[in-house]
Amino acid sequence: MGKYYNKNKDYTPPVGDEIFLLKMGEMVLKGLNRRSFEERLMGNARRRLQKFGKFRIYSRQSITYVEPQSLDCDMDGAFDTLAKLFGVVGLSRAKACEKTPEAILETAKSYLYDDLMEANTFKVESKRSDKSFPLSSIQLSQYVGGELDDAFPHLQADMHTPDVVVHVEVRDFAAYVHANPTLGAGGLPVGVGGKAVSLLSGGIDSPVASWMMAKRGLALEMVHFFSYPYTSPEAKEKVLELARLITPWCGRLTVHVVPFTEIQEELRRSCPEDLFTLLMRRFMMRISEQVAHRIGAHALVTGESLGQVASQTMEAMAVTNAVCTLPVFRPVVGMDKEEIIRIARKIGTFETSILPYEDCCTVFTPRHPKTRPSMEEILEAEANLDIDGLIQRAVDGIERVTMG
Ligand code: ATP
Ligand code: MG
Repeated sequence: MGKYYNKNKDYTPPVGDEIFLLKMGEMVLKGLNRRSFEERLMGNARRRLQKFGKFRIYSRQSITYVEPQSLDCDMDGAFDTLAKLFGVVGLSRAKACEKTPEAILETAKSYLYDDLMEANTFKVESKRSDKSFPLSSIQLSQYVGGELDDAFPHLQADMHTPDVVVHVEVRDFAAYVHANPTLGAGGLPVGVGGKAVSLLSGGIDSPVASWMMAKRGLALEMVHFFSYPYTSPEAKEKVLELARLITPWCGRLTVHVVPFTEIQEELRRSCPEDLFTLLMRRFMMRISEQVAHRIGAHALVTGESLGQVASQTMEAMAVTNAVCTLPVFRPVVGMDKEEIIRIARKIGTFETSILPYEDCCTVFTPRHPKTRPSMEEILEAEANLDIDGLIQRAVDGIERVTMG
């Protein structure tokens, strides 16, 4: 204890009187990884908070403290951003005050006034890292609890399931008071699981799938296939906008925009129409895997959902998987469209996803796509294609856009 606080001679107490406390999630359970998870979470928080002012960020006992270092920090903007930080299960705004029982009580009364007025039951929980404080934690809780009981006559003490818990922490430079934490984004800090390539279309499913895998700690880079002039520049802009919309959760994102027109025209010219979509998807997977190798990613992510369209049957997925050696994560594979839409609304991508621009998948859609393709017919259809050449030219034409 004290490593990040007591003994740090350079330490200056937070400017202003509010700080944020972040409670970390399941990673706390993960023994040896814990420190590296904490470091990752703090690094992600630092990067995301840069635009909101200067903050000091450090962790102790599975709590991450975020303290403004100047009076012009945008506290509301910072709090909204931290609510989207994967790895955080709960977050609170806490008020700093002088380290006396009276100041702590006054702060609880005024800072938590709304919470206390809305609650019927409450309890006080105190923690004391400054052992020279005159009251023990229990005595402090009893004092603050007793006084609050008098000051708010409608309140009942309840030690088991209180509506509001008044948290008091006595630390080296100040005491802090806060109420129930609000729900954090959950999951694991982006990056702890390594890197993956996510196939981002302009649809509803793939932004949700990307968000879900970022939540499990993957840093993502996106691949988007676009077929100019069959798909319009607006369609491409829409996809870039979708990527931008998920950066508050996923962090910085690079979109690799792959020219796909030549491949689609070649498939249309020389392959059976009913296999067109599957052959096209096999090219998408091959190219995405090449991008993955280039950037050091170790998995692919798609927004496929079992049975949603002809190319998303088991047999079709087997055929598209067969060209990859990397694992393919399909986090929405078992979800209904309604469930996917609920997440899309929550993360703010839905309204953009339903803008009516064509996707490259909707160009040359076969009238009767095969739902139960066999490997033999697929290989036969590809036999006369210059697969390597087509892939090489597509990869050479990649345009990269970074955001966030
Ligand atoms: P979405 O809503 O994500 O577009 P979808 O239900 O329309 O999915 P498909 O069009 O068959 O389904 O695409 C399945 C998956 O393939 C997508 O979720 C996405 O991961 C990937 N994909 C499809 N089109 C593209 C594209 N143009 N660029 C990159 N990935 C794509
Ligand atoms: Mg689509």
